Amino acid sequence: MVTQPTQVQGLRTRNRRAILAAIRNLGQTARVDIARDTGISAATVTSITADLVEEGLVEETMDPAAARGGGRGRPRVLLRIRPDAFLIGGAKISTDHITIMLTDYAGAEVLHHVCPLPIGPGLTAEKVAGHLETATASALERLGRKPEELASIGVGLPGFVDASTGIVHWSACFPDRGINFHKLLARGFGCPVYLDNDANVVALAEKWFGFGRGVDDFLVVTIEHGVGLGVVIGGQIFRGARGIGTEFGHTKVEFDGALCRCGQRGCLEAYVADYALAREAAFALDRDLALPVTPQEELDALFAAAKAGDEVADSIFRRAGRIFAMGLANLANIFDPGLIIFSGEQMRFDYLYSPEVLDQMRRLSVASGRTPPKMRVHKWGDRIWARGAAALAMEGLNEQAHDGGPAVAAGAAGPERAAVEDQASL
Ligand SMILES: [Zn+2]
Repeated sequence: MVTQPTQVQGLRTRNRRAILAAIRNLGQTARVDIARDTGISAATVTSITADLVEEGLVEETMDPAAARGGGRGRPRVLLRIRPDAFLIGGAKISTDHITIMLTDYAGAEVLHHVCPLPIGPGLTAEKVAGHLETATASALERLGRKPEELASIGVGLPGFVDASTGIVHWSACFPDRGINFHKLLARGFGCPVYLDNDANVVALAEKWFGFGRGVDDFLVVTIEHGVGLGVVIGGQIFRGARGIGTEFGHTKVEFDGALCRCGQRGCLEAYVADYALAREAAFALDRDLALPVTPQEELDALFAAAKAGDEVADSIFRRAGRIFAMGLANLANIFDPGLIIFSGEQMRFDYLYSPEVLDQMRRLSVASGRTPPKMRVHKWGDRIWARGAAALAMEGLNEQAHDGGPAVAAGAAGPERAAVEDQASL
């Protein structure tokens, strides 16, 4: 059989991707271990890693164990990601601040930088893009690096984000709907920009650096200002056919129920997210509504009251927990996951993953007699979101390196590609 050049190229691209991922996962590793881990032949591993070393993405190092042991024969040569190959940026846009993380190519944090976002009715998507550009420039300046030294930047934000076209259909961060946010960002950066839903970037952070390392299929549930879900299937983020799938926070738990920030009623996050609980806290705590209190202060007070034994406050958290358990059981029934990771800042509110909630979730899941999914809680703090965004930028950069083509960020080619496909279907 004659193999077409394109097939050969495709296979080599897949092998490069797998080998680079294995070196990243295994840390310092020998060629023979890469071959064992990936199932790729030793000859191909040797050839591809030679390219990666030549391109400066991977470097050789001596096995420290062999050096210490002073054994006979040649010391083993190990491979590792070359940290200074690229400077990578990761940004998380929240409703009131921007978090930037600069990392090296091995994923180690180089700088963490937080800038407030001026909240107000005039805050458009264009202005948010401008603030992100300024925040990134300040971060680079703190490090004494120039903007052109940034190899790529990943950006995560909450809402309905189509990673393939760069269109944000809805986000709590700005009032614009259906806007090509990627285009706005790409204008201000001289490097490729990658955009995704923030729960997806957390799933990437778990896959690259967290509990998802080496696990092919798992779910990440994020609880912050909203409730998010990242789905990893076969080692890849699953985004749905049109790029905005897995909106767990907006699955419905009550017909005509509580009003959600997305404009619809009865969404899970309208009962579980911090803004929903803060909304109830104002009445439960019987405080003077004329007093200016932030939703976070409201929520902290409610949490403290519940911990101190206040029955009404406690009932609000218990109800949120029951609804959350119902949502989790639905996820377990649909995906049959082996591992569910609870990740994010809001994890300090343990009522959402209390033994009672997890028990309830198991009771509501389809009984199969098998072991229930493993649950892990990851209290990363604020850094995880930006770190995941940096992983998104690195993944994008890897794809470019594999393709050997010019730097084209995901999203930039989206609308054009869609147009071509439309014509082809006529
Ligand atoms: Zn909603």
